[in-house]
Amino acid sequence: MHANRALEKLMAGNRRYVDDQVVHHHQSGTRMRAISKGQHPFAVILGCADSRVPPEIIFDQGLGDLFVIRVAGNILDDAILGSIEYAVEELGTPLVLVLGHERCGVVAATVKHAAVLGHISTLVNAIQPAVNQAKPRPGDLLDNAVKANIEMVVAQLKASMPVSEFVQQNRLNVVGAQYNLEDGAIEITA
Ligand SMILES: [Zn+2]
Repeated sequence: MHANRALEKLMAGNRRYVDDQVVHHHQSGTRMRAISKGQHPFAVILGCADSRVPPEIIFDQGLGDLFVIRVAGNILDDAILGSIEYAVEELGTPLVLVLGHERCGVVAATVKHAAVLGHISTLVNAIQPAVNQAKPRPGDLLDNAVKANIEMVVAQLKASMPVSEFVQQNRLNVVGAQYNLEDGAIEITA
């Protein structure tokens, strides 16, 4: 599947979700058995761990459709990069969608310079450059920081080897999107 078609499928599923017209396809025992010998997910979703943003539900997809990586603040690290590379190289997935969302808690903590405990500092340190980029922008700093974090992660991914090669070879597209907590709609932002 081409990345454009994969993105269309995601956005069509999100429209069904927003319109309360979900079909819950690929969630049966038949599907479970059909994919038991192999998987060909059509998109990687790098999303936040936030309980309100579960990719299979908000894109109305099922078993074997999405290769989902979730971490607070939808940041990158080497283990996440390796997971993405695996999906592209071994499973042939043509699209990575970096999915941020409104009022992300860990982005908010970074904006506020909140004192954070333990390993939460790893997340805050990863998000700080996005907050710095957002500061001069007009408007709400948290909204802008969420958007800047999505843009930054997309740019980091596109600059990372071998993902940058996959993109150059037209095997992969990387896009950024934001989830609206009020109406469930997803908007492509990067
Ligand atoms: Zn979040």
